[in-house]
Amino acid sequence: MLSGASRGACRCVFANVAMEDVFPALARRSDAPDHPPRRPARGILFMGFRCAHFRNQQFAKFALSVPAALLVLAASCVRADLADAQKLFQSGEYRECSRTAQAAIDAGEWLEAWRLLKIDADLACGEYPSALKTLQDALPRYPSSVVLRFAGRRVMQLNNRPEEADQLISEIETLVNQAAWRFSDPAGLVVLGRVLLMRGEDPRRVLEGFYDRARKAQPNYLEAYLATADLALAKHDFALAAEGLENARKLAPSSADIYSRLAQAYAPSDHAKATEFLEKALALNPRHVESLLIQAENHIDAEQYDEAKAILDQVLNVNLREPRAWAYLAVLAHLEGDATGERLWRSAALSVWRTNPEVDHLIGRKLSQKYRFAEGAAAQRRALTVDPKYLPAKAQLSQDLLRLGEEEEGWRLANEVYDRDGYDVLAYNLMTLRDRLQNFRTLEAVDQDGGGLIVRMNAREAEIYGQRVIELLQKARASLGTKYDVRLEKPTVVEIFDQQKDFAIRTFGLPGGAGFLGVCFGSVITANSPAALSGNLSNWEATLWHEFCHVVTLQKTKNKMPRWLSEGISVYEERQANVAWGQTMTPQYRQMILNGDLTPVSELSGAFLSPPSGLHLQFAYYESSLVVEYLIEKYGMDTLLRILTDLGVGMTINESLQRYAGSLTALDVEFAAYARQKAEALASEADWGDPDLAPSADLAAWEQWSRDHPHSISALRTVAKKLIEAERFEDAKTPLKQLRTLYPDDGGADNAEQLLARVHRELGETAEERQSLESWAARDAEAIGAYVRLMELAAAEEDWPAVRTSAERMLAVNPLLIAPHEYLAKAAEATNDSSAARAAYRALLALDPLDPAAVHYQLARLFFQEGETAEAKRHVLQSLEEAPRFRAAHRLLLEMVNRESPQ
Ligand SMILES: [Zn+2]
Repeated sequence: MLSGASRGACRCVFANVAMEDVFPALARRSDAPDHPPRRPARGILFMGFRCAHFRNQQFAKFALSVPAALLVLAASCVRADLADAQKLFQSGEYRECSRTAQAAIDAGEWLEAWRLLKIDADLACGEYPSALKTLQDALPRYPSSVVLRFAGRRVMQLNNRPEEADQLISEIETLVNQAAWRFSDPAGLVVLGRVLLMRGEDPRRVLEGFYDRARKAQPNYLEAYLATADLALAKHDFALAAEGLENARKLAPSSADIYSRLAQAYAPSDHAKATEFLEKALALNPRHVESLLIQAENHIDAEQYDEAKAILDQVLNVNLREPRAWAYLAVLAHLEGDATGERLWRSAALSVWRTNPEVDHLIGRKLSQKYRFAEGAAAQRRALTVDPKYLPAKAQLSQDLLRLGEEEEGWRLANEVYDRDGYDVLAYNLMTLRDRLQNFRTLEAVDQDGGGLIVRMNAREAEIYGQRVIELLQKARASLGTKYDVRLEKPTVVEIFDQQKDFAIRTFGLPGGAGFLGVCFGSVITANSPAALSGNLSNWEATLWHEFCHVVTLQKTKNKMPRWLSEGISVYEERQANVAWGQTMTPQYRQMILNGDLTPVSELSGAFLSPPSGLHLQFAYYESSLVVEYLIEKYGMDTLLRILTDLGVGMTINESLQRYAGSLTALDVEFAAYARQKAEALASEADWGDPDLAPSADLAAWEQWSRDHPHSISALRTVAKKLIEAERFEDAKTPLKQLRTLYPDDGGADNAEQLLARVHRELGETAEERQSLESWAARDAEAIGAYVRLMELAAAEEDWPAVRTSAERMLAVNPLLIAPHEYLAKAAEATNDSSAARAAYRALLALDPLDPAAVHYQLARLFFQEGETAEAKRHVLQSLEEAPRFRAAHRLLLEMVNRESPQ
């Protein structure tokens, strides 16, 4: 999606000259087939060997003396040599390529392409001074070459000559201003497009007016595809990038440049494809630095730091001066708490170009991805100090600040980025989101010491359950803060979105991430409201408890903790707070553990990065929580706290674990045994095998199979369901009771208690039905069916505390329904909890009840009882406004008036 609001004034690089003026030929031909005037060509037949820059006099004489047909032959020989040299470059033989190009230049080859290739090869292997010399020799020889000047910019930068780099761009602008038509060949168009983008030109105009035109003029011109992809990738428009690159790879199937960009384009959406393309790029060119750097970054993301270093070694073997390789090493040193190393590697990264903003931008971006938002933001500020116009740093800084809760500056910067670049998908999305956030309501519960909570949510939702959110978070803050010995000094910001897209943009900057319920950045939490989950409801109380636990552990460790440990503690704490929250052992997890799917503790973070399936990702969370449980059981809570303290001072997790658990290998082995034992303990008497009988087989066959395999969970469940289907409810009790005895902790779908509740209901055995429902509800945090029925049954028996428990469980899943609030109001009134009753009636009003007059009346009555006459009167009048003949309301109003002025 390269679209957005249309931009204002066109910021054209060519002073006060509109795009059409730059390319009058193009403007005139807008409706004609594209035949841009050919540039005086590079080939021998077009260039003319009498050219003033033609230095190979011997060849000139020879050329003059032979017929034109032979000259074609000569030209094709030259091209064949050039093609061979280009092949050397493409396969990573940079030094050989450089030597070949130099030899050709020395032999008097006049083609500019030889110089460009020499420069590229020298840059690729870090021979920056040599590239500079080639450039300096070539510039006077090709005084009107914009391609050479654009390539020269990079050469100058990498030779620490930023002013001369800028000078070359100015020269391009001057050349175009003098005779724009000369640069309307594909190569010129692409270079001018890139220059215009640097100057802040509208990307869509560049795309259409330059890159698309270049491609139309020469459909096999690869540079046009690469430039388009670079533009789309920079604007986070991955679909557009992928589309163009897929076409390009048909044209140049052996270009590692295309495959490495394809890997980037697919990385956010299709991990397998991205990996495949990256491997392809490296198969074509094992020394392809761009691809190697992606690979290193992937390892860093997976916390595979040694592997990342090995890849960076390979990069430095190709190019010892590669700034990004040194920048990644600085990131790794930071993550390992090695401040000296970090300083040294950063200096190395900046040694070739002291004011290179990319170095600190890259360091900061990676640190932010590691949740070190404060350090990341500091790095972006350094990048902006050397280049205040460097937009990627500004964009990243705005994201960092928003995640740090420093919203004022964060939004201001996002706005600045958007103003400069309205087509950046990320900036555009953020601005749209900011507008929507204006309609949110802010609920504050800030302590005197400055800590506390700031909750933002949709205004209507805030009315309905905002107070519940605050109360839950306050409980989490008190409980987890004490347990982990953390004092949260600044308020925690919690934003709850009623649209998943808004959640995704606030969280990831881009739409997507549909599986995520909530995310924590340290002191900022983002979460989906039940309205955003479109039917896939989940317990929001469990989600917020989980996220708040991240707030506590991230702040304790100053965000310096591996992902697995952070997730593990949060899932573990869910279970501690409520057995129905947090994941527990399931038959699938049991199977995975026994099948050897456990990831070693030291590699657990990687399991979150590219899980083969959703189940594997869920399992990574569960396994991490099991490691935490194991650590606490074996070494005590104090040790867990010490580990968190170690991380906070910069120790790595493996170093810290070794301090308390001895060798990591031993820890892996012992934990695997612990997990295995847990797995085996799940319904240990049960037969977990898959029956060799079709699910569609008849009841008799299944009954026989079950008799032969009396401990088969699967058979018992199938028989029971078939009996229920046949309405043989009394008979269904036997397999269900056997199932319950074998697997009492089952909280999954079609668990024994759930099915028993159905059977008892059918048989009119209300007491037993209620008992089964209670057992099911206690184990399943999303058992809506159980909560609804329990509310009915308990209300019929006027068991108000039980009604309230079920209503509250229901509200923890979906507070946007009327029924639980109604039950809650009744239960609260019956137990004389006026404040809870009023809250429930207020929520009801926000839910547009069928009979608002009745709800206002109930509120009026309660307020009147509490002596809050003004509120009472307001509601009774609203009730009468809705239903003017409502007698009870009239009587209440009269009572109020009488009390105010007794006769
Ligand atoms: Zn989490």
